[in-house]
Amino acid sequence: MAKPIILTGDRPTGPLHLGHYVGSLANRVRLQHEYQQYLIIADTQALTDNYDNPDRVRTNILEVALDYLGAGIDPEKNVIFIQSKVPELYELTVHFLNLVTVARLMRNPTVKDEIKQKNMEESLPAGFLMYPVSQAADILAFQTDLVPVGEDQNPMIEQTNEIARRFNFLYKTNCLKEVKPLTGSVGRLIGIDGKLKMSKSAGNAIMLSDSFNEIKAKVQKMYTDPNHLKVSDPGQVEGNVVFAFLDVFDPDKAAVEELKDHYRRGGLGDGVLKQRLTGILEDFIAPIRKRREDYAKDREEVLRLCFKGSEQAREKANQTLTQVREVMKLL
Ligand code: ATP
Ligand code: MG
Repeated sequence: MAKPIILTGDRPTGPLHLGHYVGSLANRVRLQHEYQQYLIIADTQALTDNYDNPDRVRTNILEVALDYLGAGIDPEKNVIFIQSKVPELYELTVHFLNLVTVARLMRNPTVKDEIKQKNMEESLPAGFLMYPVSQAADILAFQTDLVPVGEDQNPMIEQTNEIARRFNFLYKTNCLKEVKPLTGSVGRLIGIDGKLKMSKSAGNAIMLSDSFNEIKAKVQKMYTDPNHLKVSDPGQVEGNVVFAFLDVFDPDKAAVEELKDHYRRGGLGDGVLKQRLTGILEDFIAPIRKRREDYAKDREEVLRLCFKGSEQAREKANQTLTQVREVMKLL
C-alpha cells in the first residue's frame, strides 16, 4: 500500500520561527514516517508581495531548507522542493484560475487581512490576489491527503477543496482529491509584541536559528503587565506575553500554574519569569540550531537536495497535470 500524502510548505521570506514549529513543523516531523511528505519552498508565492526584492526570496530558500533539516526533517524520507523549479504547478494554476471568481478571491479572510497589513488596497497586484489559486495547484498536484498548517491557512484549504470539487464536477472526473488541514498544538502563536500572529514579515518572531543572546534580548522586550511596577505589586496574567509563551513552551504545566498564582498575589518579579522563559526557549531551540549549523557547513549539498527534490516533485505533479489536460481536452 502506498503511503498517504502530505503537502505543506513555507514562503522563503525569512528563516522559520517558533510559530512555524508549533503550527506546522512539529506535525511534519511527527508524521514523516507514516506519510510520503512533500515540502514546498514557495518562492513564486513569496514573490507575489516581494517582487521588488528578489534577493530576499533567493537568500531565504536555503535558510528555510536548513530550518527543515534542523527541525528534524529527514532528507532521505521527505521531498523538499522549490516551487519555481516545478513549472507544472504554473500550468495547473492557469487552468484553475478559470474556476474562481475575483469576488470569491476578494472574500478570502486571510488575503483580506494581508492586503490591509501590506497597504495594498490602492494598487493590488493581480498575482497577490490569486495566490490562493496557485496554492491550490501546489496542493492538488500531489494527490495530497493532509496539509499540516497554521490556522491562517484554513481559508486556503477551503478554497482548494472548492476548486477540486468544481473541477471534478465540470470535467466529469475524479482526478483531483479533496484535502484535510491539520492544525498544530497552537493554531496561531502570538508575536513577541503580543500581536495576534508571530510572522516573518512583522518582525515579531523568535527564529529557530536565533542565538542564546538573540533569544534573551527578544524575551527581555516582551510586554508583561504595565501596572506591575514593584515586585510586591499584584500582577496580571491575562494579556501577559511572557505567560502566553510559558503556557506554550514550558513543559512543567503545574509549575506555570503556581507561577501564575504567585504573580497574581504579588511578590514575583518579571525578571525571574523572563529568565525562566529564556532558559526554556534556549533548551527548545539549541538542538535545532546545532543540527542546522551542521547542515549549513555544506550549503551546496543542501541546494542539491532541493534540486533533486524538485525533479521528484515534477514527476509526481506531471501525473496529475496529464490527467487534467486530458479531461480539459487539451491537445
Ligand atoms: P510571511 O509573514 O512572509 O507570510 P509567515 O511567518 O506567515 O511569513 P508562512 O511561510 O506564510 O510564514 O507560513 C508557513 C506556515 O507556517 C503556514 O502553515 C502557516 O500557517 C504557519 N505559521 C506561520 N506563522 C504561524 C504562527 N504564528 N502560528 C502558527 N502557525 C504559523
Ligand atoms: Mg504567511
